[in-house]
Amino acid sequence: MIDIHCHLTSARFKHDRDAVIQQASRRLEAVITSAIHPNEAEKALRLCEKYPSFVHATLGLHPVYAAELTDEELEAYLNLIRRNRSKIAGIGEIGLDYHWISDSIRIGKMKKVFIDFLQLARELDLPVVLHLRNAIDEGLDIVMKNKMREVVFHCFNGTTRQSEEITKNNYYVSIATNILRSENIQNVVSKVPLQRIVTETDSPYLGPRRKRNAPQNVSLVVDKLAELQGLSPTEVDEITSQNARRFFNIGSQNSFKTSAP
Ligand SMILES: [Zn+2]
Repeated sequence: MIDIHCHLTSARFKHDRDAVIQQASRRLEAVITSAIHPNEAEKALRLCEKYPSFVHATLGLHPVYAAELTDEELEAYLNLIRRNRSKIAGIGEIGLDYHWISDSIRIGKMKKVFIDFLQLARELDLPVVLHLRNAIDEGLDIVMKNKMREVVFHCFNGTTRQSEEITKNNYYVSIATNILRSENIQNVVSKVPLQRIVTETDSPYLGPRRKRNAPQNVSLVVDKLAELQGLSPTEVDEITSQNARRFFNIGSQNSFKTSAP
């Protein structure tokens, strides 16, 4: 199993980060930690070095922070990502968030930054992880107009029509642990082809029973998908893990586990 989206650099893991990763490594093949701000990027890269082939990283800028960076800070961050191209699995999370961002100046900046990161992903030939809150249609439109090839809609919570448009374009939906408490996600995802689904926890967020979430809880997503699609968890795991490996171009070797004494 692969958790394609979590936040291991979050302060909520500061007291036991290594224990959380060790624990996840017993159940999972790989995790992908997402940096949402430049000040998390170096930390995420260090975790990749510490846990080779188990922890991977995507570097991005969450839309709620997009308007906070100066042009110089943004340029410096884009260059940091360029320099670390060979160490990362993708760009993200990036996108649009109309729940938290409502004034027109910040919306304008958020959209401009989103496009800057999409262009960077094209330049570096990396897949992108999208965060779209109240913005799935607009985000889909933008990635299509920018001719993005590898796109995953993180923490998908849209409609059947939206899931069909996403999969028709060979993009992916990522299903998170909030599927356990969302009837909408359960209904929609029961009809999405497994070949277009990947799994995530978004930990430390979206925990079952509102507790701190952890990467190994991605198994709960796999179990739920299996139940909804009438398959065994092993079958679901095989296909969704293969999707994640291909999408992020990561191997199935967990060398940190095999090389650890
Ligand atoms: Zn996230």
